[in-house]
Amino acid sequence: MMKSLTFLKPYRLTMGAAIFFLLVELIVELYQPYILSKIIDKGILNNDLSYVTKWGLVMLVLSVVAFIGGVLNTFYSTHVSQSFAFGLRKSLFEKVQTFSFTTFNFLPTSSLITRLTNDVTQLQNTVFMSLRIILRAPLMVVGSVVMALILDWKLSFVLFFILPLLFFFLNWMVQKGRELFKRVQENVDSVNSVLRENLMGMKLIKAFVRNDFEDERFQVINNNLKRKTATALKTMEVTMPVLLLFMNASILVVLWYGNSKVHSNQSNIGEIVAIVNYISRITSTFSVFSFIIMAFSRARASSERIEEVLTIEEDFIEKNEGNKLRNRIEGKVQFHDVSFQYPNTENDVLQDISFVAYPKTSIAILGSTGAGKTSLFQLIPRLYDVSEGTILIDDQDIRKMNSKELRGQIGYVPQEALLFTGTIKENLLMGRENASDEDVYTAAKHAQIHETILSFPNGYESKIGQKGVNLSGGQKQRLAIARALLRKPSILLLDDSTSALDLKTEAKLIQSLKEYDCTIFIITQKISSAINADKILIIDDGCLVEEGTHDSLLESSKLYKAIYYSQYGREEIPNAKGAN
Ligand code: ATP
Ligand code: MG
Repeated sequence: MMKSLTFLKPYRLTMGAAIFFLLVELIVELYQPYILSKIIDKGILNNDLSYVTKWGLVMLVLSVVAFIGGVLNTFYSTHVSQSFAFGLRKSLFEKVQTFSFTTFNFLPTSSLITRLTNDVTQLQNTVFMSLRIILRAPLMVVGSVVMALILDWKLSFVLFFILPLLFFFLNWMVQKGRELFKRVQENVDSVNSVLRENLMGMKLIKAFVRNDFEDERFQVINNNLKRKTATALKTMEVTMPVLLLFMNASILVVLWYGNSKVHSNQSNIGEIVAIVNYISRITSTFSVFSFIIMAFSRARASSERIEEVLTIEEDFIEKNEGNKLRNRIEGKVQFHDVSFQYPNTENDVLQDISFVAYPKTSIAILGSTGAGKTSLFQLIPRLYDVSEGTILIDDQDIRKMNSKELRGQIGYVPQEALLFTGTIKENLLMGRENASDEDVYTAAKHAQIHETILSFPNGYESKIGQKGVNLSGGQKQRLAIARALLRKPSILLLDDSTSALDLKTEAKLIQSLKEYDCTIFIITQKISSAINADKILIIDDGCLVEEGTHDSLLESSKLYKAIYYSQYGREEIPNAKGAN
């Protein structure tokens, strides 16, 4: 909880103002029953109307003061809590940006979303309530006890029996509430994760007519949340009757004992009324405590989850120390006995891979699905680091390079072309923010998407829906390629990025890549994309099984031959140049 609380520091003054106005309100409220007792004893019982009017007016003025205090307190509390949440969200977001890929493996996106939204709101509410209600409660209890004792300590003696009991009860509630609400919060997380997955895969769910199944899955988890929340709330509900019992018992004692004291002229009716008033204030404030416990238990669970993000260990933060790159990378990429396993897994997905890609050459990577091609790609821009072996770029170990600068020179087109909400041009400019319009058009032309963009009513200013929903698969792929080309990379990584293109468009695209001064890696399932590559690597089950050119592999590799025949048929075996 402490770490989150440091976000309140900048607002110390405002919090001071909120607390000041809270005290004004509280003191006035505490004073009112005291005045009331005087009005009864000296005014009403003595038939002194002017006394009643005078002090009645004072009470009226004090009420107005309390009201103003309350309003100003709310004003400042709102300001503090909103600013606090703003700062917290900002820091969380910035922290998430620094996470390495590994971190996302154990902190799933849905959980991060809950932490940045729901959990922050939870803390925000608690800060607000602390300044408005929570701080008030203990002060109200202490103040009322003091006032009651001042009025008549003998009559108020019953409080000494009740208060310890109340505290004991409260402590029990705190323990219980914390556990219960932690579980509630975990369930909120699950609901979010199912919901998110469902919304993202809506098309697929509809296509496979899985709505009923998804409905059921959601119902189960939704039900869990309901049950856990209900249990927590029900437990907290016990507070009210217990407190009422305490309250009524103590009022009875005061009335019974007060009655005999009034008869023996040791006490006044007004004092008894005031003490009963203070006792009900004390017990009703305790009922606020159950609400406070609830808020704090939730806030505590939330702050733990938020702090988990804020204090994530160094190992999971991307380090950018490495050497700065003085020049543009030449583009020589060398794998040396590289093995790799995903964090927290047992098996190597890549084993002892060694090869060299010389600058400005093209390397095609073939292999069956799940062979480890994408995993191999992710190692080049250091999205993950190798488990064993080394990757050298321009003869330098990439672990010694500044990963931000390294990535700045790599154009990566991931297997799933991901676009962001915004215009087409904004999406392309992600490749290089300061690119001129000319550069954007050229990149789009090379990616074979320029004409298509122009055919849209708003051209380059056309809006792309969330994740590119209003574009075809092939259009998305080509936009993602244009984005990478705009960067004029030294190393271009195309992960199955032409899978949705027809052969003719693909051939044109590959031809235009020759304009670029870079080493090109193409993962592909299609021989047509590999045929003209300077080198073809065949990956199978994490191992590099064959390496060569189209012609050499066609002679030496059974596997390559098999793939080739399966795509072209045995009769027409064109040579490399002819097949294009
Ligand atoms: P495809 O042609 O289908 O894209 P691929 O060759 O690109 O396949 P990879 O994505 O590299 O295959 O996956 C290789 C292996 O690594 C698979 O067995 C997969 O289960 C595993 N794998 C992939 N991503 C992760 C991950 N984030 N955590 C753990 N294992 C993973
Ligand atoms: Mg892949």
